[in-house]
Amino acid sequence: MNVLVLNAGSSSLKYQLVDMDTEEVITRGLCERVGTPLSFHKHGVDSDECVIHRPLPSHHAAVLAVLEALTHPEYGAIADLSEIQGIGHRVVHGGDYFAESVIITDEVIARIEECSQLAPLHNPAALAGIQSCGELMPDKVQVATFDTAFHQSMPPRAYRYALPPEYYEQHRIRRYGFHGTSHRYVAEQAALFLQRPLDELKLITCHLGNGCSLTAIDGGRSVDTSMGFTPLEGLMMGTRSGSIDPAIVLYLIDELGMDTAEIGALLNRLSGLLGVSQSSNDMRDVRDAAEAGNADAALALELYAHAVLHYLGSYVFALGGVDAIVFTAGVGENSADMRQKILTGLEGLGICLDAERNAARGGERTISSDDSQVKVLVIPTNEELMIARDVKALMR
Ligand code: AMP
Repeated sequence: MNVLVLNAGSSSLKYQLVDMDTEEVITRGLCERVGTPLSFHKHGVDSDECVIHRPLPSHHAAVLAVLEALTHPEYGAIADLSEIQGIGHRVVHGGDYFAESVIITDEVIARIEECSQLAPLHNPAALAGIQSCGELMPDKVQVATFDTAFHQSMPPRAYRYALPPEYYEQHRIRRYGFHGTSHRYVAEQAALFLQRPLDELKLITCHLGNGCSLTAIDGGRSVDTSMGFTPLEGLMMGTRSGSIDPAIVLYLIDELGMDTAEIGALLNRLSGLLGVSQSSNDMRDVRDAAEAGNADAALALELYAHAVLHYLGSYVFALGGVDAIVFTAGVGENSADMRQKILTGLEGLGICLDAERNAARGGERTISSDDSQVKVLVIPTNEELMIARDVKALMR
């Protein structure tokens, strides 16, 4: 059974065709700069990858290009579209309507449209993909998997802000949380890896990529997460500030005369690793700059680790203890230095890294020492596979 997974960003469309009998990726690709004259399309796996330069004026055009590439006589992976049995779409915002993945119906589409207000760049892109697939492959089952869904299990004490009720009831201002598909995937894999039932485990999953979030997971259910009403809250990220005193925003308006667009750009695009280091949003560059003696870069690393520690500590207490801490995404999977920086000095709390295991590379692995009370794991994330698994489960 082959499942096509589409992940539409504001100006991109990533895709994977997955054989769900083996969970092997048949082919994958990426359309970038959709809607601009510089659009291009990369298709294929590793050495078979080819770059197709063609105009992609819209997400609809990008879906067409993807289907053409998949069935292309030279570099395609399937003879025709009848070899695709189901389609999964990543949708960023499901509001509080969806606590799990669903088969797409007109009602689901209407709800996703309604949530576009909360994710104005991402939900319309996903809707364009859903609509195009519906037109081009009307007989296929389509499934929506939401970044917010996994966090719908949070209790009100975690998702409500300390604001008067009308802001929640009329304006839907609450914590939604994001990266839910990644947190859910690594939690499930961690349970398999530890050979323990997920519903008995207390986990803290650390998704540290360009965007960063931590989630406290009790018995397989998200009970708190660091991103909030938007993906700006919480940890320091590549270019996002994460949480700051909200009164700073008032100060920027009143004293510096900044408007909302300027403040939005400052907090979303010009802060985080990039803003503090004054050099790059890429952890590797910032680490190299710090090693070369750049004090701003060194401070950026300190702030980044401190923010993770802040949420880790909070979630250990919220969960009443923790069985395993799981690192994932670009930084979480690859940066032994950052993992060490975050977890150094926690031996008194039963969290002991093994330096050699931490430095080694590989797939799913333990990086804590044998006598560490709390296991520390690295689990590479795979949101596409999680979506494809949901499609398979719903098609049954
Ligand atoms: P993601 O959003 O998951 O693709 O993660 C992107 C982040 O991962 C960037 O900040 C990269 O610098 C970081 N990253 C990727 N590979 C490495 C590596 N080998 N060491 C340190 N950071 C890395």
